Amino acid sequence: MSTTSTTATRRVAPPAAADSPMLVGGRWTPGALDRWLDVSNPATGEVVGRTPRADETDVRHAVAAAAAAFPAWRATVPAERARVLGAIADDVEAAAEPMARLLSTETGNAIRPQTRPEIASAVALLRYFAGTVGEHKGETVPLGGGLLNYTLREPLGVVGAIIPWNAPVQLAAVKIAMALSTGNTMVLKTAEDAPLAVLELSRHCARHLPPGVLNVVTGLGEEAGAALLRSDGIAKVSFTGSTRVGRLAMAEAARRILPVSLELGGKSPAIVFPDADEDDVAAGVVAGMRFTRNGQSCTAGSRLLVHESIFDSFLDRVRTRVEALVVGDPLAEATDMGTLVNRTQFDKVVDYVEGGQRDGAEIVTGGLPDPAGPLGQGLYHLPTLMRGVDPSWRIAREEIFGPVLVAIPWTEEQEAIEMANDSHFGLAAYVWTHDIGKALRTAHALEAGWVQVNRGTGQLPGMSYGGVKQSGIGREFSLEGALEGFTSRKTITVDTGV
Ligand code: NAD
Repeated sequence: MSTTSTTATRRVAPPAAADSPMLVGGRWTPGALDRWLDVSNPATGEVVGRTPRADETDVRHAVAAAAAAFPAWRATVPAERARVLGAIADDVEAAAEPMARLLSTETGNAIRPQTRPEIASAVALLRYFAGTVGEHKGETVPLGGGLLNYTLREPLGVVGAIIPWNAPVQLAAVKIAMALSTGNTMVLKTAEDAPLAVLELSRHCARHLPPGVLNVVTGLGEEAGAALLRSDGIAKVSFTGSTRVGRLAMAEAARRILPVSLELGGKSPAIVFPDADEDDVAAGVVAGMRFTRNGQSCTAGSRLLVHESIFDSFLDRVRTRVEALVVGDPLAEATDMGTLVNRTQFDKVVDYVEGGQRDGAEIVTGGLPDPAGPLGQGLYHLPTLMRGVDPSWRIAREEIFGPVLVAIPWTEEQEAIEMANDSHFGLAAYVWTHDIGKALRTAHALEAGWVQVNRGTGQLPGMSYGGVKQSGIGREFSLEGALEGFTSRKTITVDTGV
């Protein structure tokens, strides 16, 4: 293992620990059994808060509250829904800094490059969907014969939504904004590791929403999450998380023929052509790998496919960029990369890297920090670049969800495309070339829901985002996604007699 990654060790005081009840029917509640789960700061191991461990009864109450609130909310004029979402966005923006600190504290994600931008993204999403309420339009279809045939976009009812811990505020905001702007009500289940900042977001929502329109339950996936999926009161499942649990969600939804949206895992390829401006592209590849979130991103461009003619020189550039990342206290301004979210995730990343080494891969830079150094005791893993990797190995095929980038050379364009598509995932992909013909040919051939050409940063409101293959079903972040995923189309046919 070799690395010269610098560290930021000045510890910044995290927010004080507190109990955060959940939101059911407009009231903040510890839940029927008053049982609590600790939330820890992965950078220090300290408990930073507690949230209720919701059970089936709590979920039933939350779904009932959402069902009771639905008739009035669906009847709310669109402009009022827009006003409310806009007011929530204003409140979140005003409280962005403490929310970003809280989010860094529970996730280990660095505040400057990751959690502040995440809160800003949540605000932008709330505003975007506030701006789309007038666009929930139907169509008039000319059928002749005196018939007036038109369609209406109608809300579905109670949306059951489940989110993961890696970008919880952004994912909560997009689901809340899509569901509520289209006239649905909602029960949102937070992730075990990162419920606190989402509860903070919910507090801003609750100040502006009628009781029951948004309900937020906390707790374990196999208890509260499973109870939500089983609930007869929900009309739609909106799930973001692993492919494994997505499969369970879909099976549960199939029982009652519920519509589902699934935003699942990925192992996204980044294809680098030989004409690339190597230094700029190295920066883009490092950004696309989402090292600032420890690679714990579904869209991380974690399979780096580089033309053989520039393989060595390009990897040198990437190595330089990776080694310049500052690893350390998530709350320190200098930090680019904080800690992994929990011990399980940490062990998983270590296991993948060690397994890759046993298979014969070489660590170009990264690996575990010096155990005797300042990062040795926490859940820190250095940003890691590996080469000498066969595309059939686990580290090249499975989603590591950690700061591990594997590099593989290719010779022919077609070979690169086939390698990129040889995956059961199909979420994001990145193409790096100045040759517009090659770029578009490759982008069109890639099996992915989202292909970026010469860009390595995140989703923006308005772009339809989602996966193909086992990366998911449905689209989020866009009006189109909200209409397809959160409304149904009703056809009205009137015989006008004229
Ligand atoms: P996970 O699937 O383990 O958990 C996600 C959520 O599901 C959590 O709230 C959890 O409590 C809940 N859950 C777990 N078991 C459940 C069950 N039996 N029934 C109902 N709910 C249950 O995923 P994770 O480890 O929290 O997140 C990482 C995964 O999420 C990665 O695979 C990542 O790619 C994916 N992800 C995808 C996107 C996307 O947009 N495609 C975005 C972020 C994360």
